[in-house]
Amino acid sequence: MIDQELRNIYLREEKRQNGGIELIASENYPSREVREACSSILMAKYAEGYPEHRYYGGCVNVDAAENLAMERAQKLFHCRYANVQPHSGSQANYAAYHAVIRPGDKVMSLILNDGGHLTHGSPVSFSSEMYRFVHYPLGEDGRLDYDVIAKRLDEENPNLFLAGYSAYPFAIDFRRMREIIDAHNAHAETPCLFMVDMAHIAGIIAAGLTQNPCEFADIVTTTTHKTLRGPRGGMILTNREDLVKKIKSAVFPYAQGGPLEHIIGAKATCFAEALEPSFKEYMEGVLRNTAACDEELRSLGCVSSGTENHLFLLDVLASFGISGKEAQAKLEEVGITTNKNMIHGDTLKPSECSGLRIGFAAATTRGCTEEQARAIARLMFKVLKGAISQDEAKEEAAGIVSTWKDVMTL
Ligand SMILES: *Cc1c(COP(=O)(O)O)cnc(C)c1O
Repeated sequence: MIDQELRNIYLREEKRQNGGIELIASENYPSREVREACSSILMAKYAEGYPEHRYYGGCVNVDAAENLAMERAQKLFHCRYANVQPHSGSQANYAAYHAVIRPGDKVMSLILNDGGHLTHGSPVSFSSEMYRFVHYPLGEDGRLDYDVIAKRLDEENPNLFLAGYSAYPFAIDFRRMREIIDAHNAHAETPCLFMVDMAHIAGIIAAGLTQNPCEFADIVTTTTHKTLRGPRGGMILTNREDLVKKIKSAVFPYAQGGPLEHIIGAKATCFAEALEPSFKEYMEGVLRNTAACDEELRSLGCVSSGTENHLFLLDVLASFGISGKEAQAKLEEVGITTNKNMIHGDTLKPSECSGLRIGFAAATTRGCTEEQARAIARLMFKVLKGAISQDEAKEEAAGIVSTWKDVMTL
């Protein structure tokens, strides 16, 4: 049977993706090899358990695929153990918490409006119901303030300290956090563990362009589909042998049932790609383009965060007198996709927001150059100022996109 109804939806989505400038910082385009892996025959196999210890027979080949994914992940992130089964980043966090703390324990995470994820203690997430969340603020400049973190740890004595964010544009000093936690633990009654959720920056870490949290944290979680450019999925990493068994049983059978072995195969392919020298070149391009766009907007008089990674936050309220919601809609009308985002010290409601989160992981995959990143900044400026007609803006955006690779040929 050919499911024409659904095929038509695929074609429309392909057209949408090809036609637009994708600047959502959490998105990316996986390679053909990764996409094909997602539809491989491994999907037809039940494999509850772990390689060589499954609950079903016939697992010899999925065992080989999962072992390959684990070995490659361990090599890529320089860690002793990788669990590649989590279905998503949120599932990875769900399991990781269970592996290291008990319900009711105290977790210290970033104030959510400053760039934390839903699973870092949001009232609408399981996390806030199962654990007691307390928070650390950013400094006045919107950057992590390590002295404040040290002070908050001593005040609150949490069981777990959590770093890693969804909308933080600067580098994170994981080494310094480890030192602060060690200093706290030297006199604290209950030891505090260190967890890093590197979902957004995993690709930058894989490329060796920023500190690797696996060197410093007790447990690290990630997604595989953001800067890492793999299939939609999650992963948990550790260098602590004593946590391996706990992580395994937290993922299966506690949080999940049968693993998605086809997605695990796709993760293995994505890790192999990230181990290639060309991935580092790609990620250097992402950082260059992001910095160029942010810089161009600031040279035009906009209030923007600056950046040390693949994203920045544009204060559209200060820059254009409009909300993030409005700015997102205006850009979408001309083929530029972004998302509204709270900025540090935001005065608007979460449904409105004062900022836009802008990232270049996806556009760079398609071939966006630094010059084009600057042209996109100038185009966004004109659109948000209302200084260009919708038709002209659409044409300009289409002109940029026309030089890029088709998403199905990557
Ligand atoms: C995206 C993200 C996640 C969750 O990933 P999903 O796969 O959407 O569940 C978790 N943590 C952080 C910091 C993220 O940015």
